[in-house]
Amino acid sequence: MKRIEALEVLNELTAELPVVVTCAATSRELASLENRYNHFYVLDSMGLVGSITTGLALAAKDSDLPKVIGIEGDGSLLVNPNVLPTGGFLGPEKLLLIVLDNKVYGSTAGLPTYSSRVDLGAIAEAAGWTVGRAADELQLRTEFDRLLTTSGPTLLHASIEAGNAADIPKLLVDPVVLAHRFQGWLSPRLARGSGTR
Ligand SMILES: [Mg+2]
Repeated sequence: MKRIEALEVLNELTAELPVVVTCAATSRELASLENRYNHFYVLDSMGLVGSITTGLALAAKDSDLPKVIGIEGDGSLLVNPNVLPTGGFLGPEKLLLIVLDNKVYGSTAGLPTYSSRVDLGAIAEAAGWTVGRAADELQLRTEFDRLLTTSGPTLLHASIEAGNAADIPKLLVDPVVLAHRFQGWLSPRLARGSGTR
């Protein structure tokens, strides 16, 4: 499964969910498929998708949203692996973090990451997350659906091929604009169901 094939599936499954996406090729490829207001592209902030989604999942606790979705890379998660024990400690019910793991730094000449020898899913399991695994599009759909209805911090470890899709344009939208439009999409959905916001 190529990254863009995984993103096509995830884009279809997350039309009504907040989606926080890691930087570089992953953001560009998702935006090339569909550049939607429920996407928050975390440009130039490697390693922060898990932290942002943890905070949003806690904020969404009393909303009608089933999950807050993070799309991370292996290299990016390894920049900030503290996300995993933090999730185990805080136990955000509505967190679903998807790791597209190609075992390399896709934007820096394909140098290997630690995930080429270290199982990121096993680290998450040891920290108390519910973990699903996918190696093709069908498993990705099945495990996404299962974890979407599983309470607590959930991690979907998706194995993808190394390499980036060809001819994907740069994503040059101002990050301030990206944050503003995402906030506009998310705010009413966080308020819904809580009765307090
Ligand atoms: Mg990678």
